[in-house]
Amino acid sequence: MALKKQSELSALLDEPACSHNKKSKSGCAKPKPGSAAGGCAFDGAQIALLPIADVAHIVHGPIACAGSSWDNRGTRSSGPSLYRLGMTTDLTEQDVIMGRGEKRLLHAIKQAVKEHSPPAVFVYNTCVPALAGDDVEAICKTAQKAWGVPVVPIDAAGFYGTKNLGNRIAGDAMVKHVIGTREPEPAVGDGRCIYDINLIGEYNIAGEFWHVLPLFDELGYRVLCTLSGDARFHEVQTMHRARVNMMVCSKAMLNVARSLEDRYGTPWFEGSFYGIADTSAALRDLARLIDDPDLSERTEVLIAREEAVLRERLLQARPRLLGKRVLLYTGGVKSWSVVSALQDLGMVVVATGTKKSTEEDKERIRELMGPDTKMIDDGNPRALLDTVKELRADILIAGGRNMYTALKAKVPFLDINQERDFAYAGYTGMLELVRQLVAALESPVWEAVRRPAPWEQSCSLEVAAVGG
Ligand code: SF4
Repeated sequence: MALKKQSELSALLDEPACSHNKKSKSGCAKPKPGSAAGGCAFDGAQIALLPIADVAHIVHGPIACAGSSWDNRGTRSSGPSLYRLGMTTDLTEQDVIMGRGEKRLLHAIKQAVKEHSPPAVFVYNTCVPALAGDDVEAICKTAQKAWGVPVVPIDAAGFYGTKNLGNRIAGDAMVKHVIGTREPEPAVGDGRCIYDINLIGEYNIAGEFWHVLPLFDELGYRVLCTLSGDARFHEVQTMHRARVNMMVCSKAMLNVARSLEDRYGTPWFEGSFYGIADTSAALRDLARLIDDPDLSERTEVLIAREEAVLRERLLQARPRLLGKRVLLYTGGVKSWSVVSALQDLGMVVVATGTKKSTEEDKERIRELMGPDTKMIDDGNPRALLDTVKELRADILIAGGRNMYTALKAKVPFLDINQERDFAYAGYTGMLELVRQLVAALESPVWEAVRRPAPWEQSCSLEVAAVGG
């Protein structure tokens, strides 16, 4: 596989569906030295596609590429678990010197097919074989012919750019090689209309999509594919037949939604399932784009029912969270979608992190939090703690790597990133979010650790006695 041409990379960065492209013509931020430290293009491509549960995902490269990125997103599958098996060609210096990379890849594909009979194999190209000049595309074609299984090359050498670019490379590979290669099964309904939809950028973290799926079932939607949480290869193949696409994450794989609109005329919209307001808005937008008055009516009835039940159940917990000040340090879509969920609970978001956010994400933040909102770009522990202190935050909500920063500073903490164990999407997810927030804020440990230690207390008593 020849390296991607600069023009191909520029085309991926210059996504016309991003509104900030139209504004500044700058596309996504060009990678600066060190920017892949938060995840390289390969990492982005792999996390975007790894949740396709029945596919054999082979990382063609040194062990470290696969080792540091494998399974770092807590995505769940309701069936096959092949995606959780880390596969790599484990290239060594000797393989590169002796030019054995392509041979090893062919062997790895053969082993994956023979041992696991997957419906497809995805091959991720990384920096070393890209520089060594391995023709991954040709090997994939040879393997596909030899073993009769689709073998999809994903040319995502880490040095191409950042994680965000990797997401787009992954989406591009799906559009080029997978989507449209199969027709969906005919829908069987109980006489009701069935509306086929796709969710793009939904990763089913901690199984949170299963909070939303029953609502879709009730309204008569058939989710052809969620790209890529709990997805199967044959579902991705049928994505071109959806009537509407919902972009659940604003920028990851935006190019898929736009390409499906260009090729098949499928309308799409951006939405989120975090928070009451956003979940209801997403359901309304779907019904609006399907354009069926009966569906819109049933959607309103469902929203009214779900919101009433939820507000009733939140009644008790809301006063415990009302007015609590939150410092939210996360990236991308969560920098605004979680703000909305917290505001629904009456909490005050004093600042939000924007390190991996696009211009579009920042615009959303300003809409939700006002034009003068504080956005944090520097996430080093000292800066975060200074901001917590300066803005008198009651809790830090961030990714797992910031947990010890918060705990050592005796600040309550909630993990919001992809490694989290709890599902916060949909109406039901709101209850879980509330439960976790209350547990973090009201844990008796804070009172205990903030109290002076017993020996400090007796010391101060002695000093007082001596002084007296
Ligand atoms: S693909 Fe390149 S940048 Fe990414 S982990 Fe591998 S060697 Fe590092």
